[in-house]
Amino acid sequence: MKNRYYVTTAIDYVNAKPHVGHAVEKIQADVLARWHRDVLKDDTYFLTGSDDNSLKNVQSAKKAGKSTEEFIDENAKSFQGLKGMLNLSYNQFIRTAKKEHFAGAQKLWSSFKKEDIYKKNYKGLYCVGCEEFKMEKDLVDGKCPDHLTECEVVEEENYFFKLSNYQKKLEELIESDTLKIVPEYRKNEVLSFIRQGLEDFSISRSVKRAENWGVPVPGDEGQIMYVWVDALSNYITALGYENEGDLYKKYWLENENRVHVIGKGILRFHAIYWPAMLLSAGVSVPTQILSHEYLTINNQKISKTLGNIINPEEVVEKFGIDGARYVLLTSLPSSKDGDITWERMTEKYNADLANGLGNLTSRVIKLSQNLEFQIPDVKPDGKISEYLENFEIDRALEYVWMFVRKANKYIEDNKPWELKKADENRFKEVMEKLNSDLYIISQLLVPFLPETAEKIKKALETKKTEPLFQRIR
Ligand SMILES: [Zn+2]
Repeated sequence: MKNRYYVTTAIDYVNAKPHVGHAVEKIQADVLARWHRDVLKDDTYFLTGSDDNSLKNVQSAKKAGKSTEEFIDENAKSFQGLKGMLNLSYNQFIRTAKKEHFAGAQKLWSSFKKEDIYKKNYKGLYCVGCEEFKMEKDLVDGKCPDHLTECEVVEEENYFFKLSNYQKKLEELIESDTLKIVPEYRKNEVLSFIRQGLEDFSISRSVKRAENWGVPVPGDEGQIMYVWVDALSNYITALGYENEGDLYKKYWLENENRVHVIGKGILRFHAIYWPAMLLSAGVSVPTQILSHEYLTINNQKISKTLGNIINPEEVVEKFGIDGARYVLLTSLPSSKDGDITWERMTEKYNADLANGLGNLTSRVIKLSQNLEFQIPDVKPDGKISEYLENFEIDRALEYVWMFVRKANKYIEDNKPWELKKADENRFKEVMEKLNSDLYIISQLLVPFLPETAEKIKKALETKKTEPLFQRIR
């Protein structure tokens, strides 16, 4: 039987249009999906989507003077537009406003063990920006440090989930890598958080506070599910968990690779709340959580308030689709935040794509006219596999570019244009190696720059090439 691989991204709040921070995560997940689907030939399913049910969406719609539905439809379309814009190969874009998702989320809720849920009066500080209750100690001058807004004081009767019932089990799962958290330092962070003791968390809110938006709690007309409870369930509702349909069986139940790609800011929700909820409902937990760092722009957090947002379409306009994929992927290291500026992106594009790969391709093709070569047999590269397993996409690309630089150096060292007249046999040998190297590079590029990989392969076949990447200023 073929290996199966299910990979998801976070579903974004659709209270605004996507920026490069959203885009880079989708590209990362796309790399993993393409690696498994197109290189390893695994039976792969790639999911992304939008979180339609947050209170944030409701409030932003109001500010924009639109109905919530109209507002989220508009923004969800922009997120869906990333597919063509960035050549994403996802199989489904789930919208949590749709009724199948509601039914699935409600089924999950109804499957929670009775002893895990209780109702109580609660008073707390809520940040709508984070969609999360905060502790006094989390605040700076009484404000959420991420949103710089004052929290809302909320006092109402809510349902709570007894997270402490799962403390031991979660610790075991994560420690043993049954639920593998990558990178390792994030795993350790989650483990130490669990070991401090897990507190129960509120999993519903009053219909009034939710402004009657979201998934109703089954059997209680006064309560709407806490948005994270319904949002997290998208990973299985999208597969038809509601009716335990074929996709759900294939990619969740009968699959060893259930992989979530997310940002570090929402790791706890994915590594603690989500598996605890699944354990309570008697459903398998994910097998891997890959946590990425953030992009910053000019060393500042990407923020509407700061007005420093770069949109993915601007990046694509300047560098093309694969150019944008390349500069964004290489700007985000696996171990720390990555900073982008237009200047640095342009430099990188010119050096690595226009001069590096583009130049290599055009020189090899021009010198190969009237020559015939065997296409080498290329197997999936072990090193790339290792990097991608460790969610080190930047390092995987660094590794591919080592081949590009080597091949360019080989041309400089051997000067085939001089050999052509002086030593025909040697010329053929040199060109044979360059054709083979370039073909291997094209295959290494498949998950990262799929269009470029295809163009190089075609150029090698037809001996015709147009510049792959134009130099830009
Ligand atoms: Zn906040």
